[in-house]
Amino acid sequence: MTDTIAAVATAPGVGGIAIVRVSGPQAVEVADRVVGLPKGRLTRAAPWRLRLGWAEDEGGCRLDQVLAVVMRGPRSYTREDMVEVHCHGGAAAAGAVLAQLVAAGARPAEPGEFTRRAFLNGRLDLAQAEAILGLVNARAEGGLRVAAGQLAGALSAEVRRLRGGLLQVAASLAVAIDFPEDVEVEPPTLAAIRTELAALVETGRAGQIIRQGFSVVIAGRPNAGKSSLFNALLGADRAIVTEHAGTTRDFITEAVDWDGLPVTLTDTAGLRETAEPVEALGVKRARQAVDAADLILGVVDAAGDPPDTGILQELEPERTLSVWTKTDLRAPAGPGLAVSALTGEGIPELRRAIAAHSGGAVAMAGSGGPCLVSLRHQGAAARALAAVDRAEGGLRSGLPWELVALDVNEAVETLGEVTGESLRDDLLEQVFSQFCVGK
Ligand code: GDP
Repeated sequence: MTDTIAAVATAPGVGGIAIVRVSGPQAVEVADRVVGLPKGRLTRAAPWRLRLGWAEDEGGCRLDQVLAVVMRGPRSYTREDMVEVHCHGGAAAAGAVLAQLVAAGARPAEPGEFTRRAFLNGRLDLAQAEAILGLVNARAEGGLRVAAGQLAGALSAEVRRLRGGLLQVAASLAVAIDFPEDVEVEPPTLAAIRTELAALVETGRAGQIIRQGFSVVIAGRPNAGKSSLFNALLGADRAIVTEHAGTTRDFITEAVDWDGLPVTLTDTAGLRETAEPVEALGVKRARQAVDAADLILGVVDAAGDPPDTGILQELEPERTLSVWTKTDLRAPAGPGLAVSALTGEGIPELRRAIAAHSGGAVAMAGSGGPCLVSLRHQGAAARALAAVDRAEGGLRSGLPWELVALDVNEAVETLGEVTGESLRDDLLEQVFSQFCVGK
């Protein structure tokens, strides 16, 4: 890592300010060639202090008035010397400053290269580096809170603790293998570690909701009041409401943040047998959406004569909330939540019921505790748990300790992938390819 890299760190588009970052051994010298100060030079500027100056081209012509700050390594994000140039927002200024920095000797940074350097220089472990991605990609406050906890080290600490416990088991197995006669060896116990690891794996359910959103699909017969309910839940007129059955042909999805819970709400075509080909296609798509949903709102028209509850038999009971609509016209004739899209009656209660079905994802996010959000972490933890299970089974059935040790070591290795303590060749590629330039 001897070269100096530069990139625009802020999102493209018009804004007040854009930031260009430079990092590497020549960062200050390179930036000094581009940023002129009214007095003195950037190379001799006090670090961690903003200085007002001008970004200039090779000929000394002014491009933009900027603020520049020098951060000397190791007290910087990458632990290298860094300079941030704060120029004016918009497409031109940051691009021109970056071009000048490259002309002055910096190389355009690869995606995620700043964070990669921070990881390689020991500033962050891999789980913390990925938390940056979580912060940037968070869709709702819940995701933000989990990512912030992960950046602060909540997940890393838990994984290290479990890995430390497994290392102790591995060590006592190694002693038992090496000195079978000399030492009185208690067979190690994995039960406590297994329970804790399983609890960590279980957080992946909430983590998945935090990452992807909790998908709620509204299903029911044509004209049951699904689109009206969809709009009432969103608090906006998004779906078309008519008195004609079969008007919603495709499904409509909206992402919302309900008290920190990211929800994707989907309105679907009414489920009924139909010979009309376009409607039939809509019904097929509706069934697919229902199959993929975390939670289904099974909508029954309370004003129906009699109410058609057949829909509830078509939906999986474990994933379905029964919702009676149009209860301003008639009271529900069966169990379930009563709502009226017209008056708004029951809508807040329905939202609360939906949140309650999200497996405590928001509570998990608010706790600041460890939570497996990324697929990569979920996969590694699940594989580690499987290896611990095999080791436990081996101990119970009196398998040779050499064989048990293999499984314990595999669990140690696999858990190490979360924090980056075990580095497979492709691991860094896999992680940092998800970043964009400037992070
Ligand atoms: P969808 O086909 O299931 O999406 O049903 P819509 O939302 O399009 O509603 C069908 C009809 O029922 C429309 O004429 C709506 O105005 C009416 N409707 C929907 N919800 C309510 C409600 O809560 N109260 C009353 N009184 N009418 C409703």
